[in-house]
Amino acid sequence: MKTRLALFGPPGAGKGTQARFLADRLRFTHISTGRILRAARHEDTPVGRSVKSCVDAGILVPDSLMYGLVERALEATGWDNFVLDGFPRTPLQARWLTRQLKAFHAPLDIVVFLDLDDERILARLSRRRIHRVTGENFHLDTKPPHGIDPALIIRRKDDAPASVRQRLRVYHQTTAPVAEFFREQGIIIRVDAHGTFEAVHTHIRRLLNAA
Ligand code: ADP
Repeated sequence: MKTRLALFGPPGAGKGTQARFLADRLRFTHISTGRILRAARHEDTPVGRSVKSCVDAGILVPDSLMYGLVERALEATGWDNFVLDGFPRTPLQARWLTRQLKAFHAPLDIVVFLDLDDERILARLSRRRIHRVTGENFHLDTKPPHGIDPALIIRRKDDAPASVRQRLRVYHQTTAPVAEFFREQGIIIRVDAHGTFEAVHTHIRRLLNAA
């Protein structure tokens, strides 16, 4: 069974949802850099303010800041049974991660590339909503937040159309080349992310169980 995993793909491909499934069902530790940064953006410190301005605008947070955050999160897992969600996002981050994991004899087993086209990404993110307290995802058409106090349902600042377009640009220019890096290592596998969340989860489970 593969136990060191990264989920890769464009914004809105379902990385967060799939990582949560794996965390709930296989007891993997879910390391979401987006979630870590969204917590940090509320801090009234120079770092908090810098994170907030990057995340809200849909641009990448500087690598120097990311490395410390990711290293702490990986260390807490004992370097195993984790699913990275949202990291690495640049070829430099990918090289750093590979070196770091090698030093702890814990190379990634598999990178799952959740592939989704831009049109579907825009449709998913423009109508996505989040529960302010639990972080649960909703979608106004496919999973409306029925029966929940509307004051608790918010839209992520970076799901505003201008930020989504910016995140897509960053993805295509800076993040997509990371796939090539892992292709050369022979550890990346593409999964069509257009299916239902359960279908995509089943596909990932098969990949994890494959020898
Ligand atoms: P999504 O994958 O849907 O864009 P995330 O929650 O993973 O959403 O990330 C939200 C934002 O957090 C990104 O747009 C970026 O500003 C920041 N971020 C997340 N991961 C990284 C990373 N590895 N390097 C730099 N910035 C990051």
